[in-house]
Amino acid sequence: MLKKIIKDAASIAIGGHIRPDGDCVGSCLGLYQYLTENETEKQVDVYLEEIPDAYAAYVPDGVVRHQIPEGKVYDLFICLDCGDEERLGFSKALYEQAIHTCCIDHHVSNEEFAEYNHIVPDASSTSELVYDLLEYEKISKKTAELLYLGIVHDTGVFQYSCAGPSTFRAAAKLLEKGVDAPKLIQDTYYEKSYAQNQILGRALLESIVFMDGKCIASYITKKTMDFYGVKPKDLDGIVSQMRVTKGVEVAIFMYETDASVYKVSLRSKEKVDVSRIAAYFGGGGHAKAAGFSMAGTPHDVLNNLAGQMEAQLLEEEAEEA
Ligand code: 5GP
Ligand code: MN
Repeated sequence: MLKKIIKDAASIAIGGHIRPDGDCVGSCLGLYQYLTENETEKQVDVYLEEIPDAYAAYVPDGVVRHQIPEGKVYDLFICLDCGDEERLGFSKALYEQAIHTCCIDHHVSNEEFAEYNHIVPDASSTSELVYDLLEYEKISKKTAELLYLGIVHDTGVFQYSCAGPSTFRAAAKLLEKGVDAPKLIQDTYYEKSYAQNQILGRALLESIVFMDGKCIASYITKKTMDFYGVKPKDLDGIVSQMRVTKGVEVAIFMYETDASVYKVSLRSKEKVDVSRIAAYFGGGGHAKAAGFSMAGTPHDVLNNLAGQMEAQLLEEEAEEA
């Protein structure tokens, strides 16, 4: 599919979602690396917001563009790991101007918004989907590292249910390219700064459980973030740590992005499809990891969410009975 789509494109822009995570970075830069090595006559550029420091060692120097050039029209815009156009952020304008568009993604909420779409909601990650579309012999160690990074991050180091047999097969084939997996996993996934650990501790300490211990919630205000000197990208992983709490079905973590506007992250163990809840509030994601933004106090957000979660838990109980 990819080969055919890129065939006639002399210039290609690659873009991913706002606040890029490991899968977004891995899939966008993995594809970039592959194309620049194997399609040398094409112009390939990557547009992403600021990339978290943890991934920096794997990102080729000076490649990622944070602003769109005026008047530039690409033959093809490839949109990766993005459930909808809005999630492209600043690169959306470039996407709209491009002659052809393609989207490769694994969000259930994706409504096939591009001209060519390859959407596989069951896939572990966009990076695994990109891997499947490439010719194995043409994948270099650098490309392999980036795709492996994406898979590692979206599967929580292969722990989530989205990591299926095909994921492990892809990972094994990527390892054969010489990826130093223990180093990559330690440096990009587990290592945290002191401030990151402090804010994690704070969020856990101040968390509340409700609905008979089935839900856990916590929030961090802008003021607290400033106090610890942390940015939104430093808060990754907090909601996953909350989710492992025994008895919890849904974890909710929110942080203030603007005065009384919260970015909400949802994680589910089994019984609740949080992508449905996120979509209800104008966001999206996957059954077990989703998010949205909402105005109001954390209390308002929780009140609004509680009804949705209760309805799904009741549905589930009725099915079990
Ligand atoms: P996170 O909670 O880590 O920000 O996001 C979890 C998942 O939900 C990711 O796959 C992310 O792309 C998706 N997601 C998070 N926030 C939003 C949002 O506001 N809109 C949409 N469409 N998806 C989101
Ligand atoms: Mn992803």
